[in-house]
Amino acid sequence: MIKLPETVEQTVVNILRLANTKLPSDVGWALEAAAAWETDGRASAQLGAILDNVKKAELLGRPMCQDTGIPIFYVKGKIPPSIRQDIAAGVRRATAEIPLRPNTVDPLTRENSGDNLGEGMPIVHFIPTEDAYTEISVMVKGAGSENMTRLGMLNPSDGAAGIEKFVADSVLDAGGKPCPPGVIGVGIGGTAEECLLMAKAAAMSSSENPDPVLRKMEEDLFVRINGSGLGPMGLGGGATVLAVKIRKACCHTASLPVAVSVGCWATRRASARMTGDRVEYSQEADV
Ligand code: SF4
Repeated sequence: MIKLPETVEQTVVNILRLANTKLPSDVGWALEAAAAWETDGRASAQLGAILDNVKKAELLGRPMCQDTGIPIFYVKGKIPPSIRQDIAAGVRRATAEIPLRPNTVDPLTRENSGDNLGEGMPIVHFIPTEDAYTEISVMVKGAGSENMTRLGMLNPSDGAAGIEKFVADSVLDAGGKPCPPGVIGVGIGGTAEECLLMAKAAAMSSSENPDPVLRKMEEDLFVRINGSGLGPMGLGGGATVLAVKIRKACCHTASLPVAVSVGCWATRRASARMTGDRVEYSQEADV
């Protein structure tokens, strides 16, 4: 049982610092691998600059990108009653202490709260389970990539080929705006809003897809998009995506929703599992 609100608040500061200053190892390895097989000179230079930036951020404990994004939290396991307020307190402190760029504004007045909070913030998704722990995971999402999100209500007859075309077109139409190469999350099925949530959760995942059909689709899309020539930062080359991750759910017989959550090279996440007064930090997540 979590007794001290300070524990959650401090934990949130810690995972925001970790997410912003250190790339998850699977994302870092994918960038290193892309740099190793990239043959285009300009693309190699871009990947080299990105990797250099990532190393310096970790060494200096500074955010790896000036857009420190909007944090999206997932709370899994036991859900303490005051967790939303405690997470908000952690966001406020992290904004001042790390520091993070204050990004949240009122959508109409564009007034900035100055602390990454404000109406509807922070975004927290709850996944209650019977487990004895509380796990808080965070994805930090910049606007350059988030603005490229796509939802398509496809015709059911479009099938797998139509889904793959929609995903590939969504990534390629975005061009260099989302700072490729990044991790692409895809949701297939559900309802419109559930499909978008699945796409975001898929992009957050660090584990291999247990579904062989979806795994094959992920591999096919990886090869197809990386064969497009869009390349790092949209300047040409082979590395346009680092990974494609897909989730699916059943949908209405007359529907085929497909959502694409486009990520950038700064695919940032971290999590903390709190059991009693013990906290274990990780950059692997599965929500
Ligand atoms: S898209 Fe990603 S890498 Fe590019 S500015 Fe935004 S957060 Fe930074």
